[in-house]
Amino acid sequence: MVRLHTILSLTLLSSAAFSTMTVSKAQRELETMVDLVKRELLKTDEFRIFGGDFVIVPQIELNTDDDSANPNANLSPMGDIEFGVMVNQSLLEIEDDIAILFALAHELGHGFSAALLEQINCSQVGGSATEVIADLGAVRLLQAKGLSLAVIDKSISQWEFSNIFNPEVSGDHPAGAERYRFVAMAIQQLEQGKKFINVVNHIIRNELAADCPKN
Ligand SMILES: [Zn+2]
Repeated sequence: MVRLHTILSLTLLSSAAFSTMTVSKAQRELETMVDLVKRELLKTDEFRIFGGDFVIVPQIELNTDDDSANPNANLSPMGDIEFGVMVNQSLLEIEDDIAILFALAHELGHGFSAALLEQINCSQVGGSATEVIADLGAVRLLQAKGLSLAVIDKSISQWEFSNIFNPEVSGDHPAGAERYRFVAMAIQQLEQGKKFINVVNHIIRNELAADCPKN
């Protein structure tokens, strides 16, 4: 009985811990990730995007007009040159904080994907490759934030339950199963000790953009 009680209270504790994402908490997480992008990925003082004319700031806004049951997040203008992340309530209500962080990191990924594509000499690719590269960047950001690859994999593998991916192709986003396949591939290669930029190079060239010029 004692044991059952312990398990029950642990379950209650953990569900409480995973259902309290607020805009301000998400904003603190975003701030950490924006710092990591500057320090680890871009190696610059500012997180500049779209050719350098705009800058990403760690700001989150709740889109109260979006009452969709599907979680949504978008890079969105927050000032003359500032972009932050707009989220809807459904995103904050995902019962897995890692899935929420992944979605925020994916949006930041849209801000640094051009820099990564330049590094692998593949700047001309567009379409689904830009979404996949944002997912790969999100994996790297969560890892840089201190999460283990196994924990990231476990969370993203549950995409059908967290709803962070659509089951069908939507816009440039590949279908959810395909997005997870690339995430799992990246995690496996990172686990083998491959450098992140080489993982990006491998996946983009072999799976999505065979016509990139030879490195
Ligand atoms: Zn996207």
